[in-house]
Amino acid sequence: MNLSYWEIKSWLTSIDFTIVGSGIVGLNCALQLKYRYPNSKILILEKGILPQGASTKNAGFACFGSLSEIIDDLKHHSEIEVLELIKKRIDGLQLLRKTLGDNAIDYQNLGGYELFLDSDESLYKSCVEKLEDINQFLYPLFNTEVFAFKENNFGFKNIKSKYCFNPFEGQIDTGKMMDSLLNKVQSLGIKIINHCIVESFSEHVDTVKLKTNHFTFTTKKLFIATNGFAKQLDIATVQPARAQVLITKPIENLPIKGTFHLEEGYYYFRNIDNRILLGGGRNLDFKTEETTEFGETELIQNKLEDLLKTTILPDTTFEIDHRWSGIMGVGKQKKPIVKQVSNNVFCGVRLGGMGVAIGSSIGKSLADLID
Ligand SMILES: Cc1cc2nc3c(=O)[nH]c(=O)nc-3n(C[C@H](O)[C@H](O)[C@H](O)COP(=O)(O)OP(=O)(O)OC[C@H]3O[C@@H](n4cnc5c(N)ncnc54)[C@H](O)[C@@H]3O)c2cc1C
Repeated sequence: MNLSYWEIKSWLTSIDFTIVGSGIVGLNCALQLKYRYPNSKILILEKGILPQGASTKNAGFACFGSLSEIIDDLKHHSEIEVLELIKKRIDGLQLLRKTLGDNAIDYQNLGGYELFLDSDESLYKSCVEKLEDINQFLYPLFNTEVFAFKENNFGFKNIKSKYCFNPFEGQIDTGKMMDSLLNKVQSLGIKIINHCIVESFSEHVDTVKLKTNHFTFTTKKLFIATNGFAKQLDIATVQPARAQVLITKPIENLPIKGTFHLEEGYYYFRNIDNRILLGGGRNLDFKTEETTEFGETELIQNKLEDLLKTTILPDTTFEIDHRWSGIMGVGKQKKPIVKQVSNNVFCGVRLGGMGVAIGSSIGKSLADLID
């Protein structure tokens, strides 16, 4: 595309910092850079008409891990690593709430619950057995016991009569969070160009040259926050993982309030605007869901509807209003990748299923990679 002299001068000249991706990480990175370098010229490039990965698609759980998830994490990571992961999520949520304010993101501390299917006897048993150990393990972070088993009061069926409650879990309105983050970034004079795909970049002496689907230009430093799409710029080993979601129409007198985890976190649901938002089911077909293509499949959507009918809303008539998907970035390790890629290029990717919790601090850590 032949840009005008004015377009080049105002938008694409003397750029100090360019960020690829306007998800929660990219936007927080931009904010932190602006705080540290108030006079810098910062540009964000985003391939979607809106942020188009996971940050505007997620379920809005402000959580740090369910009991079974923490037990499982301890099988694959050391105790110190797991405590560090949980601390990062708690600190990240604090930073998110501090940056935008609870009103702007509609933060509600309604608590979180882990449900166990009747058929999942062994998982239930191991969680009951390990409850005390895990509470002790988490004591240094919370100064109190985190998890407790409670009677099922929400009328769920096909699950154990008790579920595991965590009073520290909350929920946010994802749309409000991203809208307010975008407003904050733009109010500081940071420019965002949408519908602009970064295709490649190359290092020069003190600059990085970027090629997009519309133009090429140079920047002093480049920050890549493309999470599930990281492989496309060849910066880190991140597997894309599609996550599908549905939402019901409003349900009168809906008693269910809180965030809920089922089958070790493979399914999750919550109340929002008198509706139930339900997601998950990647474990039914990992191979197909290992994609950067958005889309819904019959297999997973049918399973989600089935869960609503049999387990979550067994005695309530409901209609599905809408379905969508988002793309996460995952890997064998749960730890995100925040690193220097080359002299003037940095990345913060692989946020897994916890980006609401850690996204703000990963954005900050990414910005902190330069001195
Ligand atoms: C359905 C679903 C439910 C989830 N639920 C929760 C939850 O309840 N709680 C929680 O903590 N986390 C949840 N997550 C995870 C969380 O949403 C993510 O971890 C987080 O949003 C990742 O943020 P990010 O900024 O790293 O990536 P993204 O939000 O994916 O941002 C990356 C951006 O980069 C852009 N991009 C990619 N490549 C290019 C390119 N070449 N050029 C220009 N732009 C590019 C993309 O369009 C995208 O906007 C969920 C995720 C999904 C999909």
